[in-house]
Order: sequence, then structure tokens, then C-alpha cells
Amino acid sequence: MTSWLDVPADHPFGIHNLPYGVFSTSRDPERRVGVRIGDQVLDAGAVAAIGRGAGLVGDGPDLAAAWQTSSLNAFLALGRPAWTAARDWLTEILTDEVHRAGVEPHVYPLGEVTLHLPIEVADYVDFYASEDHASNVGQIFRPDNAALPPNWKHLPIGYHGRSGTVVVSGTDVIRPRGQRKAPSDAAPVFGPSIRLDIEAELGYVVGGATELGSSISVDAAEDHLFGVVLLNDWSARDIQAWEYVPLGPFLGKSFATSISAWVTPLDALRDARVALPGQSEPRPLPYLAGDAFGLDLHLEVILNGTVVSRPEYAGMYWSPAQMLAHLTVNGASVRNGDLFGSGTISGPEKETRGSLLELTWNGTEPLTLEDGTSRGFLEDGDTVTITAWAPGPEDCRIALGAVTGTIRPAR
Ligand code: CA
Repeated sequence: MTSWLDVPADHPFGIHNLPYGVFSTSRDPERRVGVRIGDQVLDAGAVAAIGRGAGLVGDGPDLAAAWQTSSLNAFLALGRPAWTAARDWLTEILTDEVHRAGVEPHVYPLGEVTLHLPIEVADYVDFYASEDHASNVGQIFRPDNAALPPNWKHLPIGYHGRSGTVVVSGTDVIRPRGQRKAPSDAAPVFGPSIRLDIEAELGYVVGGATELGSSISVDAAEDHLFGVVLLNDWSARDIQAWEYVPLGPFLGKSFATSISAWVTPLDALRDARVALPGQSEPRPLPYLAGDAFGLDLHLEVILNGTVVSRPEYAGMYWSPAQMLAHLTVNGASVRNGDLFGSGTISGPEKETRGSLLELTWNGTEPLTLEDGTSRGFLEDGDTVTITAWAPGPEDCRIALGAVTGTIRPAR
């Protein structure tokens, strides 16, 4: 399958990908939903409005109204049948030459658009679904205890984060200030974090809002899992280590969370579905059983141009469907625009760890970058970029939108 647009068959943002974002142009600063194809952006709402007027879109959901808004939330509210219909329609208008004359005026070069935060983030939750990450953090933070907490294989552990500080890729990250106290210190001190870190994660974007008191089963999770973003859960390890007992992360993580500008539909990752690595012992409780799947995603973490890690998402213990089922099993509702993170993606090999905490073993084994400098944690001016790809149909690669951010000095 090919597009009439000039997009190479092996382009990682080809016709099988079609991620959604929110963009504006200098000529039209109104924010609206765009769909990326190759290195171009389709003004999806403008074309849907023409199509509806010409009777081409039919009596389905009003995609033009959903897309001519400043976030994906209205589209997320339409639910799974509309998401699938929209993707089918986009594929048709971008592949059938008959639509070319009507569509082409609404396609912009990627370099001419400004990308914005794609969703108005409703609630934000971060999980902890990598066994290797949880085990490494346990060994570093709690060396006298078992590496994994006793509940870890029974439920997907998570905490509620701060939705208002989720920012789009490219936004600078200001070094946080706060309290820290090393175990050997007599008293806490206050100042800019000296152990600023990253966490390479996948974020899941949720739609199809539910009512208070209802739950989403593992098997029904796909009706609410719209798509994925790459997510960097910036973490101040010194602030975190002092504050986290007993209620978990707070100011050590709430200062900023970066997500990619492009939301990749779950429908684009059909060929990337894999079985979970294993949940035989202990078996999860029945509400966590069902059609749970993993994803074969290959990440790269790049610090100032040097690839410092290659995490593999396929090794994650808990599936997104299980995380969403657990998140709602108590009757908590979901909202359109909810976002939940997978937790840091780390594998068993050192070069697949998704945080500097693990890569440098809490700063004791610094990394050497290609410019000859070394890092335990992040310095002001450092830029971190996370990329990922997955196998797609017809042997193509599906790239996720990159997430990048640069550290600026504390204010
Ligand atoms: Ca995290």
C-alpha cells in the first residue's frame, strides 16, 4: 500500500503509521489536529469538513468538529469505533489518487508547522511495570531489603502524578529545587537537585470516558487505549530518595514530564503485539487475567548525541490492558485525555537500562559520552532524546514520535 504523496515505502512515518498531533502554522495560528505522513502534516479537520460537505464522510461521527479543536480530547471522546473509522478514512484519502486534488492543499511540510501538546492531560498515573527496573531501584534505594517489593508480582504498582506539568517534546526542563538528605547527613539541605535523571517510558493515551463506579476489564481495555507516546519521567533522585517514604514520589517527579508530540494509534502497532514475558508464578488474580499483550518496541536513549541505552519494551512484565484494569478496578472512572506511563523500561543487560540511576548505578559508574565528558547525572545544558520503532505491516518500521528536552539552570 502506498500513498499518492511522495513518501518512500520504507519511511518510518509511512502510510501504516499515521500518528496524530496538534499543530499550527505561522499563517494560521489556530491549533488543530494534524496527521503525520512522511515529513508532512495533514490538516485532518479541514479535509474532513470538505468531505462532510461533499457527502464523502457519510453519517458517521463528526470528525471535522472533533479535529478542528486545540487537542485530541474531543476525538478521544468518540471511542474505539470512531477511531477505527477515522483511520480507515485517512488511509483511503491518502492512498486513492481520486482524493488528491481535494487533500493536497491541506498538507504542510513538517518544517513549517509548530507542534503543541497533543492532549489536554486529564489524569496522569505512572506505573512501574519493568521487573528489572524495579529490582535495580530496590537494590539501590533499599539495599538491606528484597530487591522486589512483596506486592510487585501481584499488582501493577503505580502512583498519581501531576497532569498540569506534562509538557510537549522540545520544552526546556528547569532544574528543580528541593530538600535532600543523604543517609550520612545530619540534617536536610535545600537547593537545586544534584541528581537529575531521566526515565525512558511509554505513555498510554486513554479515551472513551467511563462513569464513576465502573471498571474496565482486561479484555475491554482496547476500547479505551487510543494510542501511545514516548514519555520521559524526569526525576530528581536526591529529592525523591528523601521524600518518598511512605507515600511515594512527589516533588522529585512533579516538576516536568515530557511526551512526544505524536500519538501513535494502537491500531498502527498491530504487528508489534507480542506475548508477555511470563506471569506464571504467581498467577495474577482473575481480574488481571485476559487478553493481555505486550509490544515489541525498540527504544534509544540519546544524551547529547551519544546513544547511552537501548531499552526493549517487549520485556515489560505488566501489559497496558492489565494496568488500565487495575487502575479502574476500584470503580475509579477514566476521562478523555487520561495518560498513564509504563514505568521505566529497563532490561537485564546494562546497556538496556532506561535511567541514569541504573546506567551509572547511582552515579558510582559514570558514563563517558562521545565528546569525552562523563556523566553520573544530568548537567545544565544537557539534551536527552528518546526514540523508538516497532515492526509494522509489509516489513515496514513504525516510528514513534521522539521526545526531547534540554536541562536549564534552576531559577
Ligand atoms: Ca517513572
